[in-house]
This record gives sequence, structure tokens and C-alpha cells, in this order.
Amino acid sequence: MGKTALVTGSSRGIGAAAVRRLAADGWNVAIHYNRSEDQALALAKALGAPAYRADVRDPGQVDALFRAAGPVDLLVCNAGIAQYGLLTDTDEAAWRDVLAVNTDGAYRCCRAAIPHMVRQKAGNIILMSSVWGVYGASCEAAYSASKAALVGLTKALAKELGPSGIRVNCVAPGVIDTDMLAQFDRADRQALAEQTPLGRIGRPEDVAELIAFLASDSAGFITGQVIGCDGGFGL
Ligand code: NAP
Repeated sequence: MGKTALVTGSSRGIGAAAVRRLAADGWNVAIHYNRSEDQALALAKALGAPAYRADVRDPGQVDALFRAAGPVDLLVCNAGIAQYGLLTDTDEAAWRDVLAVNTDGAYRCCRAAIPHMVRQKAGNIILMSSVWGVYGASCEAAYSASKAALVGLTKALAKELGPSGIRVNCVAPGVIDTDMLAQFDRADRQALAEQTPLGRIGRPEDVAELIAFLASDSAGFITGQVIGCDGGFGL
């Protein structure tokens, strides 16, 4: 029986590309979604994979997700939301929402997935940060803080779980062409491409390739790392 990979937020964007890529590598993938049921179920049908709904802001729903999905060998904490605005315009509710999805959601999923991995003395966790989690972004303080927290979580868990044979790494994408860029118009996107040394915006498949590598035995001695996939944007 093959190994199971659960990618949170795999109804769309980077997560959907990741489950397609992991399925091609032979993983039994489990799709997770919150609102985008039609897209998740279409992808599940195409891949012959199960799909589970859970709002990662809700601890009870995360626990139910892991009960339904069963033990996972690879967890990719990818579900995330963006939030734009000056910090002084970011109210408590907006701040909490970003942290609740991006940071608390990852914490809850890791906490649910780890016991099985420890029992197996094997496992793999990939946390989805961002260039902004590493370098910070003006007018995205909540998002940057939520993603910086995942860098700390990655390093701490890599130390905590290394003795149990579990690798934990962090992916820090640059500007990737998904619904998350919806607020940017053509001129903004052109400017972002020009700010990227490789001269283009990234594709979800670019990040999926990195996830597939980190999930593979080829990355067997890599843990606790924050690896950019940004066309040089963070330089
Ligand atoms: P996206 O296309 O907007 O997809 C976001 C995914 O997160 C969706 O599958 C969505 O599920 C899920 N999600 C959002 N809120 C959720 C919640 N409360 N509970 C459960 N799932 C939830 O975004 P993306 O660009 O693929 O982003 C994926 C990850 O990469 C995020 O963590 C993002 O911060 C990170 N990232 C993106 C970029 C970029 O430029 N695109 C750059 C750096 C990092 P539903 O649609 O089903 O609700």
C-alpha cells in the first residue's frame, strides 16, 4: 500500500497543483477544501482521491478532518489567506483571521498528524510560508507575521521530531499566479514580473515541483530548511 499525503487547501492554486504532482509520484493523495467544494470534488474525481471539508480556523473541524482522512505520512500545510492594508487599518478581527488560518491552522494540522508519524518513526511535514514571511512586506504585516511564525514552527519541529525520523521543511514562494493575486491588475502583475530576476510570475506547478522534491527520499537529509521558490524575488 502506498503512502498517504494530505495537502490542506488543495481545492485551488498551489495546493491543487501539489496534489496533482504528488499523485503523479505515486502518493495516495487526500484533498482538503473549505469553500471551493465544486473544484475540490472535480479534482478528487480526476485523481480518484478522497476530498474532505474543514475550516482550519475551527479546532473541531480539523480533528474531524484527520479522523476522516486517517493517518498521513506527508502533511502539507498549505491552506492560507492574504490580507492587505496598513497595520493601523488592520482591526482585531482581520488580524485574528489571518493568524487563525495561516498559523493556527498549521499548528492544529501538525498536532493532529504528528502522533501517527512518531509511532511510525517516519513522516514528512511541509509548511507553506512566503517570501513575505522571510523578508516582510509593507501593507501585509498580518500576513508577513503569520508566515514568519511558520518559519519558527518549522525549525522548532525539525529539532523536536528529527529524532523520530520526521523531516519538517518550509517552502517560501514568491509571486505565484493563483486566485491570491486577484486584487492585482495587469500593470501590477507586469511590475511584479519585472521585479523578479527570472522575469516572470511563478506558476503553481513551480511550487509543486519543490513540494514533490521535499516529499521524496531524494530530500532524505534535508530538514528544518526554508526554501524559496521565487524566481529570485527575495534577493
Ligand atoms: P489560493 O488559490 O487562494 O488557495 C488558498 C487555499 O486555501 C484554498 O484551497 C482554500 O480553500 C484554502 N483555505 C483558505 N481559507 C481556509 C480555511 N479557513 N480553512 C481551510 N482552507 C482554507 O491561494 P494560493 O496562492 O494557492 O496559496 C496557497 C498557499 O501558498 C497559501 O498559504 C499562501 O499564503 C501561500 N503563498 C502564496 C503565494 C502566491 O503568490 N500565490 C505566495 C507565497 C505563499 P477553499 O477555496 O476551498 O476555501
